[in-house]
Amino acid sequence: SPLVIPKEKHSLTDNELSPNALKVLHRLNGAGYDAYLVGGCIRDHLIGITPKDFDVVTNATPEEVHSLFSNSRLIGRRFRLVHVTFGREIIEVSTFRANTTIDSSQAPKHDENESLKNKDTARSSHGIILRDNVWGSIDEDAQRRDFTFNALYFNVKDRSIHDFCNGLSDIENKQIRIIGDPRERYKEDPVRMLRAIRFAGKLGFDLEPETAAPIKEMAHLLDHIPPARLFEEVLKLLGSGQGVTTFQLLREYGLFKYLFPDTDAILNSGWKRNDIDPERFVLQGLENTDLRILDGKSTAPYFLYAILLWPSVCLRHEEFESQGLPTTPALHQAATMVLDNQVASTSIPRRFSTPMREIWDLQFRLPKRYGKRAFVLLQHPRFRAAFDFLLIRELSGTELDGLGAWWENFQHAPENQQKDLISKAD
Ligand code: ATP
Ligand code: MG
Repeated sequence: SPLVIPKEKHSLTDNELSPNALKVLHRLNGAGYDAYLVGGCIRDHLIGITPKDFDVVTNATPEEVHSLFSNSRLIGRRFRLVHVTFGREIIEVSTFRANTTIDSSQAPKHDENESLKNKDTARSSHGIILRDNVWGSIDEDAQRRDFTFNALYFNVKDRSIHDFCNGLSDIENKQIRIIGDPRERYKEDPVRMLRAIRFAGKLGFDLEPETAAPIKEMAHLLDHIPPARLFEEVLKLLGSGQGVTTFQLLREYGLFKYLFPDTDAILNSGWKRNDIDPERFVLQGLENTDLRILDGKSTAPYFLYAILLWPSVCLRHEEFESQGLPTTPALHQAATMVLDNQVASTSIPRRFSTPMREIWDLQFRLPKRYGKRAFVLLQHPRFRAAFDFLLIRELSGTELDGLGAWWENFQHAPENQQKDLISKAD
């Protein structure tokens, strides 16, 4: 049974909670169901971070939830749940689940008359959970969550927090601790290894030793995760404001290789050239992204991906050129090859790969400023991103003869001076 922290013993009040999440909780309670806030929103609040989204968990089935809210949609197959939409805010409502790790002979027996029964579960030949739709009790739900600090439940009825796995004490000690047997849990879902690193980067917590121990040897299980899921995870890992730290942790734990195999190989080989130092360049790109996020500026996922794959593009470009291809076709071949290799690990939707190619392409066009070219380039939809990319190259030690400063001046100069700048560049 959980440790129950009454409302006077913690700092979470309705003021910190999304009014829409509260509406969902009250509606579910009103219809006779149990309903709690769980996961990141409770964890982040207790750590002193403003929660970014609110997850509700209930003993109502997805269909029952859906029928209570006209503004809701049933989603997911692997993990069925309900999205309740309020304008731009989505409250995710999932149903208590049992962990199906234990073989069926040991599985808790549900009463025949119980409404919460469902047999929709499946595993791959590697033991990875493919579908996880077996309903359970709140205790079972807590046990199948990933980390102890993610198994804290807020009950809106009496404002108490229910701590099933000693998550509060782990928060106090800044520890990331997986629930249950670490190997078993990573086998069920290898993405939990990435989530452990993500929380370490985001929260500045340490991985508790037993949670950390199996990661290096189990990292290869990420090969069995669909590239689309890893793509989403990469954006959260490297695009959430702690990209540098998270990147370093991913490399340290041998996980980066399964996300960016070509980049990892280049970094490990120590390969560099006059025009690129891969390690410095990637770190500079991630640092820039982190600073932008800190400043509240937007960052494009394609920019991050363009950074991470640029060392491979440079390497392949040289190879194609040495086979006799002119520089532009060599670049296009290199980009195609790098993207084709990458999508075996993480997918890259077309809406990202196109601007990535444009950014790379523009690195070869920005030096050519004669005639009307500079004016045409300035109008290119990807000019801004390509210019930022160029600055990162320079900051990471690539000598481009003042090209970044030139473009900086050119963009802001009045028209008559722009012509001067072009003639000086010739
Ligand atoms: P954030 O939203 O800040 O990324 P979060 O912890 O809320 O962090 P979500 O992906 O929104 O992460 O998941 C919500 C909750 O669902 C988690 O807190 C955790 O309890 C549970 N969960 C998510 N992914 C897994 C997983 N792979 N295995 C087990 N439990 C998970
Ligand atoms: Mg969340």
